[in-house]
Amino acid sequence: MNFKKVVGQEKIIAQLQNFVIKDRIPHAIMFETKEGRGGLPLALAVANLLQCTDVKDNDACGECDNCQKSHQLIHPDIHFSFPVIKAGSKKRADSFSNDFLEPWRTMVTENLYFSYQNWLEAIGAEKTAANINVKECNEIIKKLSLRAFSGAKKVLIMWLPEFLGKEGNRLLKLIEEPTDDTIIIFITHNGSKILNTIHSRCQILRIPLIDDDSLGADIAENFNISGSELANVVNLAEGNLVSAKEMAEGIDSNLSEEVISWLLRNYEFKIEELANWIDNFARETKEYQKQFFRFTNYISRSVLKRQISSNDTAETSGPRGTNFEKLVKILTLDKVEALEQIADESIDEIDRNISVKIMMMAASLKVSKLLRG
Ligand SMILES: [Zn+2]
Repeated sequence: MNFKKVVGQEKIIAQLQNFVIKDRIPHAIMFETKEGRGGLPLALAVANLLQCTDVKDNDACGECDNCQKSHQLIHPDIHFSFPVIKAGSKKRADSFSNDFLEPWRTMVTENLYFSYQNWLEAIGAEKTAANINVKECNEIIKKLSLRAFSGAKKVLIMWLPEFLGKEGNRLLKLIEEPTDDTIIIFITHNGSKILNTIHSRCQILRIPLIDDDSLGADIAENFNISGSELANVVNLAEGNLVSAKEMAEGIDSNLSEEVISWLLRNYEFKIEELANWIDNFARETKEYQKQFFRFTNYISRSVLKRQISSNDTAETSGPRGTNFEKLVKILTLDKVEALEQIADESIDEIDRNISVKIMMMAASLKVSKLLRG
């Protein structure tokens, strides 16, 4: 896994390569980022570069023995830590990342860009809270106290340290007084939830969203979509490759009609109809539900475009029909902004496993107020 597999992020890549090549990489570094921007791929590329014995153009060669092991995620000096649940017949307190290395390797090698939600599904944890526990911290201390097998650096990649409770303080000594050959890379999607004791001791590197051109090029290469469809995906994904891929996969499931009818039901405020509709919505898959709210954003932007291009329907390629025209009259600019905020919050809440039924009732109420107000 080298930097060539990272989508976009040229500036960050150059900075990280510089760190490694000049042997100036901080012992504890924290990537502050969001889902789908490439925090994990970047960390993997750093770890691999640190191990490669035949570095070419500031990147891992991809061929030497160390690179092959890194690529398969079996390099003895690259350790992983990530949120997990109880493993099989083990007690929760005895379970840790090593018990889940197999699904982890499958997930990362088959699908380099994935979400926390994807990970929970991969380990059957949709209904359990995953975390990083005391056992994990003790194992990390043990692993990093060993001498490096390859003679180079030992690297620990911890994905989502926000799932580490106060037991994380056990790692402070490691972070404060690291041995020369130890590098710890944290990748967080929520920097504000990290223990301050840890956060303050790391060098922070903010990973921005992926630029639209790189995102579009990657989607065009991996999916059979182009033109305005591709432009829509890039526009809606907002620098998040996980979202972009999900949308590209679900491009056939155009939910415009469903979204328009939900919005109009809220406007008309027919409670019973709405309640039935919400019941059905709650039974759909998470992917469908998220797609629904992405299309809510798409519809609100389409409304805006239509208003700007006045009545010239021939010019726009977006949604059409009498119901859409009704919406164009109801949704004013400030309402569009508020609606997008409701949609974004709903996607977050679906990811956080909040009861979709309750969330959707609250969202419907907000939308009703907004459209009727
Ligand atoms: Zn190599």
